[in-house]
Amino acid sequence: MTMMTTLAERACAGDPATAEEALTILRTADDELLDLVAAAGRVRRTFFGRSVKVNYLVNLKSGLCPEDCGYCSQRLGSDTEILKYSWLPGDEARRQAEYGLAGGASRVCLVASGRGPSNRDVDRVAAMTEDIKAHNPDVEVCACLGFLKDGQAERLRTAGVDAYNHNLNTAESNYAEICSTHTFADRVDTVQQARTAGLSPCSGLIVGMGESDEQIVEAILALRDLDADSIPVNFLIPFEGTPLAGTYELTPQHCLRILCAVRLMCPDSELRIAGGREMHLRTLQPLALHVANSLFLGDYLTSEGQDAEADLDMIVDGGFSIIGHENAEALRDRVRAEKAAHTAAFGAAEPADEAAPASTLPCGKTVPSGASDDGRENVLVPTIRRRGAGTTVSPNA
Ligand code: SF4
Repeated sequence: MTMMTTLAERACAGDPATAEEALTILRTADDELLDLVAAAGRVRRTFFGRSVKVNYLVNLKSGLCPEDCGYCSQRLGSDTEILKYSWLPGDEARRQAEYGLAGGASRVCLVASGRGPSNRDVDRVAAMTEDIKAHNPDVEVCACLGFLKDGQAERLRTAGVDAYNHNLNTAESNYAEICSTHTFADRVDTVQQARTAGLSPCSGLIVGMGESDEQIVEAILALRDLDADSIPVNFLIPFEGTPLAGTYELTPQHCLRILCAVRLMCPDSELRIAGGREMHLRTLQPLALHVANSLFLGDYLTSEGQDAEADLDMIVDGGFSIIGHENAEALRDRVRAEKAAHTAAFGAAEPADEAAPASTLPCGKTVPSGASDDGRENVLVPTIRRRGAGTTVSPNA
């Protein structure tokens, strides 16, 4: 029996990989990568079958953050030409959420930039949640509003919020390298507050920020100690205008190894391939779905993802099902037909640059897309979101 088989059998039986074993996973040779994916896939199927949970991000408030997280396009001092806007009105928040639900999502993630919400902000998100749920009774709502103060998690739970996202992002031993305005312990504290209030804790990682393999394992261990119900793994999107611009450390193979390490260390946690998957997993994205059981549909908070239809194609082509939908293929075909009908009626979707003048707060600067100009082929650079929330342009959902 190979080590991979043993690890899979143990994880399926509730005995996760140790830190030492996780380090071995991260150092698996390319020749053994498919064996590793097969082992992690077996664990995935044991706990989640072939289902995929589709999540949809609604950026309620963008930019203007006083914190200095080095990876973030919304940070203090960021020169990234992102959309910047204050709180979306409640009816617009529901409208944006419903695009994602129509596109196959069963969970909407209501996100606002900033250190943390005021009590008035919490009331605002509570009212949005009640409104979204009144019109869409089966939806799950996850809030992501920053550090919580006493009583705020309880207020959100009472309003019907199901989950709270607050990522640990990286290892405690690496935290000071990426942020000076708050600590790792501050982040742990908010995740624990959310859990205590009855919110499902969602907390994950950003990899590719200069951390060592040991620090990736350290961060996964911290998430396991927190017993996060869901773990989004983000792959650094190195925005121009942030300290980590130009940082491309990840290979598609290493991204897969990281996902396998999370799966084998946290076997029954929902594992989500999150921001940057297109850029870093590239053509290995479909393979990653055999390890992860969750993804974000369409665009991210400040950058574009691949077409939402491509996300659905990937799920259908892999033979997976979508939570909340009886037939993934029928859903995909319906979404495709509706988009085709919309295009026939109103023309093709507006290109971002033409859309900018009609947007609420467009920055206007041309943002590069496609291959970088430094000679590296097939390396995508971030494309700033110019559609969906905060604009008048239809979202990618
Ligand atoms: S990650 Fe959150 S807290 Fe940090 S700079 Fe970005 S919006 Fe602000």
